[in-house]
Amino acid sequence: MSVVTRFAPSPTGPLHIGGARTALFNFLYARGRGGKFLLRIEDTDRERSKLEFEREILDSLAWLGMDWDGEPLKQSLRGEAYAAAAEKLLSTGKAYRDYTPPEEVEALRQKAQEQKLPFRFREEMARKDPPKAGAPFAIRLRFPTEGVVGFDDLILGRIESQAKELDDLVIVRSGGEPVFHLCNVVDDVFQGTTHVIRGSDHQTNTLKHVVLYEALGASAPKFAHIPLIAGPDGKKLSKRDAARSALEYKEQGYLPEALVNFLARLGWSHGDQEIFSMAELIKHFDLGTVGKSMAAFNPDKLLWLNQTYIKNADGKRLAELMREHLRHEPKIAVPADEHLIKVAGIQKERARTIRELSESSWYFFMRPEQYEEKGKKFLTPEALASLGKYAKTLKGVSDFHAKPIEAATQAFLTESNLPLKDLAQPLRVALTGGTVSPGIFEVLEVLGKDEALARIEQAGKILG
Ligand code: GLU
Repeated sequence: MSVVTRFAPSPTGPLHIGGARTALFNFLYARGRGGKFLLRIEDTDRERSKLEFEREILDSLAWLGMDWDGEPLKQSLRGEAYAAAAEKLLSTGKAYRDYTPPEEVEALRQKAQEQKLPFRFREEMARKDPPKAGAPFAIRLRFPTEGVVGFDDLILGRIESQAKELDDLVIVRSGGEPVFHLCNVVDDVFQGTTHVIRGSDHQTNTLKHVVLYEALGASAPKFAHIPLIAGPDGKKLSKRDAARSALEYKEQGYLPEALVNFLARLGWSHGDQEIFSMAELIKHFDLGTVGKSMAAFNPDKLLWLNQTYIKNADGKRLAELMREHLRHEPKIAVPADEHLIKVAGIQKERARTIRELSESSWYFFMRPEQYEEKGKKFLTPEALASLGKYAKTLKGVSDFHAKPIEAATQAFLTESNLPLKDLAQPLRVALTGGTVSPGIFEVLEVLGKDEALARIEQAGKILG
């Protein structure tokens, strides 16, 4: 049997962390088994579904490298299929028309609740005849009244409920609108889904769905419910813990492979390995190794992963990402690629995000106009005098690369009887405006001789 999974988001908001992880597990499971990974847009809620969210979800998946097979199936275009399924359930006697006004059902439910009695809506309570001609009716699926309803979950094990605890399920509302359960099941039959992998908040829905599959004469797919994501404190993940959407992480300067790696490890593990390429995830991912308990969201771990991926990323790619990021900085004239690649190359060791990488690199793109307070104290008259002499040495370096610059600098230090630190820190402040930067010889190389000399001269003028 070839595997078919699908991700079925409702486009009522952007793709958030939980959704992205669900998509990823479906993607990995299918790709690791030569199967298909399909998409379905569950946009039956006309009011809350928005095209812009649908686009954002697709863009997010593409950014994260989860390519899907074929065209996404859109539920808003499948009304006829749902109507036909409801019709079939009516004609085979699995479902019935219910003319009970929804308020009446609600009132009965409330009353039972007040009396602390169990309440289940069953066929015998339903109004079977139209109170007036043309009155709308809901369609309800008849549910078993005894025994258990259940399924074997690939992650959680056996999940069951007493049949008597479940209502006869409304599958079409009295306005004629098919409900989530019907659309979801009809489409999984239509798409040939073999494995439904979704959040464990759908567990109780699945109890209903298995009855629906059976009534439709279809075999149910296998189910895997992924435990939800907890916040760093172990409680429910809140808005403060994570970014609103996957694309927000992109804007904050996260690399997609870092986010993918992070998402995969939210609830799944493979020995004690932490770093996984997409290919490795595809190879190793399995549902049996997804944990049963909530996975805690740890933003520091995401930062650490991102830093690791940035460190190992190719300079050209980092340069492109920095360019993208710096687009929003009107004051900065972003330099040519070559220069940016060099900047990325020497800065990447210390950046946790592309944003940090870009922001901490500003002095490569702009001459500092002033100096940090704590930097100024290094620019004493003696230091400025040494810098002035050192400028002559620099001028004489014909091959302006870190190694020859370092050699010339060593000679200068020996000759002037100066320790490196007495030169390096004032030089750093003159070149960068502050006290933190990569190795000073690399900084000199990347700035280039003319710019470095101009900055040393400027420091002398401003502070001398
Ligand atoms: N639209 C549902 C959701 O976003 C889909 C559930 C499912 O995967 O079946 O939760």
